[in-house]
Order: sequence, then structure tokens, then C-alpha cells
Amino acid sequence: MQAALHMIYPPQCIACDALVTSDFGLCGDCWRDTPFITGMVCDTCGTPLPGQDETEVAQCDACMTVARPWSQGRAAMVYKDRARTMVLQLKHSDRIDLARPCGAWLARTAAPILRPGMLVAPVPLHWFRLFRRRYNQAALLSAEVARIAGLDHMPDLLRRTRGTGSQEGRGRDDRFANLIDAMSLHPRRAELAVGRHILLVDDVMTSGATLSAAAEACLAGGAAAISVLCLTRVAKDA
Ligand SMILES: [Zn+2]
Ligand SMILES: [Zn+2]
Repeated sequence: MQAALHMIYPPQCIACDALVTSDFGLCGDCWRDTPFITGMVCDTCGTPLPGQDETEVAQCDACMTVARPWSQGRAAMVYKDRARTMVLQLKHSDRIDLARPCGAWLARTAAPILRPGMLVAPVPLHWFRLFRRRYNQAALLSAEVARIAGLDHMPDLLRRTRGTGSQEGRGRDDRFANLIDAMSLHPRRAELAVGRHILLVDDVMTSGATLSAAAEACLAGGAAAISVLCLTRVAKDA
């Protein structure tokens, strides 16, 4: 069946139209142009650090400066080049097909920080944006990660309690201030968070303000611990 389908629709690169050998793959050129994060990373946010020792526990400057309300974090790619294009397509161009390969990369990236019994949840969109976009790209990613890792998934564990406008163009302190009390556990889901280790999933981490607000809402609701997982991390030199 698969082979027959491939004769009619040969698999194409998910980023360009080049033919590839398997579904949901990148062609060689796009693979080289996609900044996957490898080697040593910040254990708290996943930003790449100089060095190749993946076992050494280290932190980036930002995570040493800003208190993070979560314990560990990883990111699959640096937010630039082909990775940036894919995030924007997933968010704005109805390329929901990208969630599957991106979810697989995320699950692989998350392996060192996954724990049995984790509850996976996306960072929520405000309902107004959800209405305009019709789907929350973070929830598409978190669903894939939970499915691959065999963990519980709760797409509406958190909700935005008020509009916060765009985070773009704001400085770091302003980004954090803008999100204080902007999220809470969904009243019908709040019980699920009690005593759980929650894995929060988002598409982009810039300052970490959004993830902090989400993590704090979970902790306020009785979660035992939080880890974070992002498709892309905005690196300082990106
Ligand atoms: Zn390609
Ligand atoms: Zn960090």
C-alpha cells in the first residue's frame, strides 16, 4: 500500500519540493540548512553551548541570570534559517503537516529529560488568536511528543486569562512583566496537575517569559515539577 502510494505521490521534502526517499523527511540541502542543536546544551533551556560533551550539566548566561521556575529544558533547533521558516509556516500558513516531523525531532531532543509519568501540555494561545488561527501550533507539537513518548497529554491544561498582545518588540523585563498572571490552569483540568511532573511544550523560546508564566501557573496549582521543551530556541547570535 505504502509502495503503491509512493509511485503515485513520491515523497517530497517537507521544506522544498525535492523528492526524498521517505515520508516526512528533509532533502539533503534543507537538512544542511536546518540548525539542529547538537553537542553541549544549557540543561535549563537547551540553548547550544560551546563544547561537545552532552553529559556535562551546564547553564547558559541567561539561565544563570534569570530564575527559571522549571528544572530542565531542551530545544530541537536554533530559531534561524530553515528552522525559522518552518516555525512560521506551522504558525501562519496552515502547514499542520509539519507537526509530525517536528514532533519526532522534539521527542528525540527531549529524551534526556523525559521522566515516566510526565504530563505533556502545550503553552496556550489566547482564545482570540486561537479563533483567528483555528489551531494552537504548540498543541500540535505536544500531542506528537506525548504520542511518541507514550505520556499523557492534556491540550487544554492551561489557558490564557487575559490578552497580552504580542511579545515582539518588547525588552526582556517588559516581556516578563507583560505575562504576570496571564495564564492559569483550566478549572476543569486543574486536578490533573496536582503532584505531577509537567512537560510544557512551545514552538519558540525567546526570553522564556511565556514558559515562566505557564510554569508558575502549574506550580501554583500544585504541580510537583516542570520541564520545558521547545521546537526552537532564539540564540543570542541568531
Ligand atoms: Zn528540501
Ligand atoms: Zn539556558
